[in-house]
Amino acid sequence: MSEWTAVQGLTVAIDGPSGSGKGTVAKILAEEIALPVLDTGLLYRLSGSVALDRGVGLDDEAAVANVVDSLLDAIVWKVDGISLNGVNVTDSLRSESVGGAASKVAAMPKVRQKLLGLQQRLSEHGCIMDGRDIGTVVLSDAPAKFFLTASVRERARRRWAQLKHQSDSSLDDVIEELKIRDQRDRERQHAPLKQAADAIAIDSTTLRVEEVVDRMLGVLERRKLIHATSP
Ligand code: C5P
Repeated sequence: MSEWTAVQGLTVAIDGPSGSGKGTVAKILAEEIALPVLDTGLLYRLSGSVALDRGVGLDDEAAVANVVDSLLDAIVWKVDGISLNGVNVTDSLRSESVGGAASKVAAMPKVRQKLLGLQQRLSEHGCIMDGRDIGTVVLSDAPAKFFLTASVRERARRRWAQLKHQSDSSLDDVIEELKIRDQRDRERQHAPLKQAADAIAIDSTTLRVEEVVDRMLGVLERRKLIHATSP
């Protein structure tokens, strides 16, 4: 049994750039307070990846929006990622090339609009959600919001360590890809990556994952959003 119980319907928003550690932290926090976790990047990754597979141009907003329409009813969230037509596709979406395609389709307002409704429906019974615009747009009323950062070099090092077995990219390649993706995510017009005014920023460059999670638990406890589970 987890040591903490969350108030009913609690939503926690965790945003930050790629490699800031939000996915790892969100998973551990979710276990600690017994809430489901939704990694919203997977939705954009799936949209970009299916568009590529179907030969749809990543500059054709209407065509990519049609791809998203065709996916909405076929996506099922699982504890360990997302399934499409009954197949868990999470691992196939982790590559940097799919990440790049995701950030291109994520800049399209029609795509964001379609995925917004899905994300809000999925959060109805409470969850920890991580992404880029969760605190600013998707869950703008969430009672707890965190914005995770880390230096570009450290973020690239983490991504590189994850991808090492699947790709020949050097650390310098990953640094360059991250910088391009960061810039696209921060400068897009629609729902850019930015810290919500009421989010708490945590720089994870030199922190262990457990230290980040402890800080978050401290905030949630002080705000009376979680309490220790009775033995
Ligand atoms: O977090 P992850 O690296 O999986 O996200 C892939 C891409 O999806 C990001 O670079 C970003 O462009 C997009 N994204 C987004 N909004 C979110 C989550 C992800 O725009 N809430």
